[in-house]
Amino acid sequence: MKGKVAVIGAGFAGIAAATTLAAEGYDVTVYEKNCSAGGRARKFESDGFVFDMGPSWYWMPDVFEKYFNKFGKTVSDYYELIRLDPSYQVLFSKKEVWNIPAKQDDIYSLFEREETGSSKQLEKFLEEGKYKYKVGVENLVYNPGLSIAELFDLSLIRGIFKLHVFQSISSYIRKYFKSPKLIQLLEFPVLFLGASPSHTPALYSLMNYADMSLGTWYPKGGMFKLVEGMVNLAEEKGVKFLFNSPVEGLVLSGNKIEAITVAGRSIETDHVVAGADYNHVEQELLPISYRRYSEKYWDDRSLAPSSLIFYLGVNKKLDNLLHHNLFFDTDFKQHADEIYKDPSWPTDPLFYVCCPSKTDETVAPEGCENLFILIPVASGLADEDSTREKYFEQVIDRMEKLTGQSIKSNVVYKKSYAHRDFIENYNSYKGNAYGLANTISQTANLKPSIINKKVSNLFYTGQLTVPGPGVPPSLISGQVVANELMKRDK
Ligand SMILES: Cc1cc2nc3c(=O)[nH]c(=O)nc-3n(C[C@H](O)[C@H](O)[C@H](O)COP(=O)(O)OP(=O)(O)OC[C@H]3O[C@@H](n4cnc5c(N)ncnc54)[C@H](O)[C@@H]3O)c2cc1C
Repeated sequence: MKGKVAVIGAGFAGIAAATTLAAEGYDVTVYEKNCSAGGRARKFESDGFVFDMGPSWYWMPDVFEKYFNKFGKTVSDYYELIRLDPSYQVLFSKKEVWNIPAKQDDIYSLFEREETGSSKQLEKFLEEGKYKYKVGVENLVYNPGLSIAELFDLSLIRGIFKLHVFQSISSYIRKYFKSPKLIQLLEFPVLFLGASPSHTPALYSLMNYADMSLGTWYPKGGMFKLVEGMVNLAEEKGVKFLFNSPVEGLVLSGNKIEAITVAGRSIETDHVVAGADYNHVEQELLPISYRRYSEKYWDDRSLAPSSLIFYLGVNKKLDNLLHHNLFFDTDFKQHADEIYKDPSWPTDPLFYVCCPSKTDETVAPEGCENLFILIPVASGLADEDSTREKYFEQVIDRMEKLTGQSIKSNVVYKKSYAHRDFIENYNSYKGNAYGLANTISQTANLKPSIINKKVSNLFYTGQLTVPGPGVPPSLISGQVVANELMKRDK
């Protein structure tokens, strides 16, 4: 047996790190403050409704397949994937609703109907996105972000101009398309990266390739099936999970952590992998003289948004909704400014509705619908019940108008969730939902580092470090950090 590893947090990053290390012979225990695994992707059940609490878009299926393959398994050993068709719908107004088809040729036709010549443009655009995906997701994101030399791979340098790292995705998209609706459609996946399109490198048009070419998938039973699959695999490899076990402190001797403190008990360890929010571990668990970054450093970071979420149970079937629904009937630019430029509660927000009961009868009682409504909002805002209620009225009203039916009077279960809950449940910095924004100045080596030069056996993973926010990146982050730990342990 190699050394003992304590992993803080059972999110995707923590589980992936734990599994990778256990498979290589380490003695790994995951300490999780909550009563179940999954972190921001936990689930809860009430009144016969089963709610995924966080992620609902299963994109980049190859990343998950590659993860399970690494351990001699396949995704289908753990859960069943369904490809959604249409992938999603966009509601621009009551009269203008676009279904985004799964088949690429059908997407070309949709573009051509909106703007003459745009199907050919889309073909080129997606071809470039494919190149970026190959280089970015199959190569770059597995770098630990510790040295600029990682980016000096010869094949990368040759193709650097094709990656469009120094151009914003906003201007890049506008070079190809004129229609405001097409532009909005292509800018939407950037929301996953937690930054505004004008501050996001055009490298991330790889997300458009992920969206339109690789497709939108759904694990039958809900996104939590992925968490269950990952936990089962981890346990098969010998990982131990301890729930209701918040790590309260790190005990150091010289430049090494000797023990972690859990519920007042000191537990010896050889290595620590911190999968909890970076800022929490640094600023709250680590003694001040060992911290790598100052409070000012954190305060200056550009955070990805938080979210105001409503989990609703509805006692009838709803018309004119698909599994994924984007309500884009208001001004995207104004909402983006109210998140990033001048953080404030949005005037007239865009929002997203997931209705998984359209695909999966197990997530709601018969004849009912399960709704998850998400409004992206700035992190760090004052989160009052009255504010939540105001937005509930606003979005329900718009949903009723745009889908042409009553909904509010049929709501039989309702729970809201925002900044206060992110902080309480996950020790989230400023109540962020998705970690740090993937802006040009916060990409790769410019993110908070996975190592701390003052503490030789402490490693950070998760959405606040490389490669960034989202389920696939978090899964990759765990593997990257496990590899770095093993490399240094040699
Ligand atoms: C509402 C929402 C919707 C999203 N939608 C999508 C989507 O559709 N598709 C997508 O790809 N991504 C989506 N994301 C992003 C994605 O869910 C996250 O990037 C990812 O889950 C982060 O994983 P993580 O392991 O880095 O962190 P987390 O999931 O936050 O895991 C960290 C864990 O550490 C634990 N912890 C904290 N402090 C301590 C402590 N002191 N001791 C012990 N444990 C501790 C926490 O309880 C938590 O379990 C969404 C996120 C949210 C919040």
